[in-house]
Amino acid sequence: MKPINEEKIKFILNLKRKGIRDKEVLKAMETVDRKLFLDGIFKSRSEDDIPLPISCGQTISQPSVVAKMIEKLETNKSCKVLEIGTGSGYLTAILSKLSKRVFSIERHESLKKKAEWLLINNNFRNVICILGDGSLGIEYQAPFDRIIISAAAEDIPQILIKQLKYGGIMILPIGMSKDEQTLIKVRKEKSKIHYEEIFKVRFVPLLEGLPKIGNYING
Ligand code: SAH
Repeated sequence: MKPINEEKIKFILNLKRKGIRDKEVLKAMETVDRKLFLDGIFKSRSEDDIPLPISCGQTISQPSVVAKMIEKLETNKSCKVLEIGTGSGYLTAILSKLSKRVFSIERHESLKKKAEWLLINNNFRNVICILGDGSLGIEYQAPFDRIIISAAAEDIPQILIKQLKYGGIMILPIGMSKDEQTLIKVRKEKSKIHYEEIFKVRFVPLLEGLPKIGNYING
């Protein structure tokens, strides 16, 4: 019999308390070990419901926010998903469990390489990691059933709306100030685009292009 992991039980109970109901999402959050995607002393805080630092001055997202984003994304095993802002690869791993194929874009080369290594070595095989500016999407792979962005933009990038299928869903934080960002759900229908505000969030900014070499340390 598998030993009961009390920290994991608390982790899942907290997600339920925060309103996460989808069984598949809860199962994926239980299966994917956040510790894998953290370094050094932060590994011991992996089951705390807080964002934590990763390299290049970025952060791994808060588990309850990740779970809400994925629940609202309504993925299924036939979805082709575009993720922008791979970061640690944690959300990518959860998406991998809940969709057919994930294309994940990161602008920091060292983060992209590390996440790619972790994902391959832990058997998340339906993921393709790409180095680039995610705000441009991937034209030659479009359209996507789902798009999810882990960095805040001032406005909804119109290029990405174009790369979303009719009937498709996009989840993203909008707002430039650190204190005034809102997580938005976009549903693209033939006749119109629907917007739903989910809740206030705090994400790193969606930046243009790739970082200049020497612009950051610890990468
Ligand atoms: N879900 C990730 C969050 C990482 S933080 C995790 O849980 O680890 C957001 C990431 O978006 C950062 O790694 C940052 O470098 C990346 N990012 C910001 N702007 C980007 C852009 N235009 N294209 C691709 N990645 C971008």
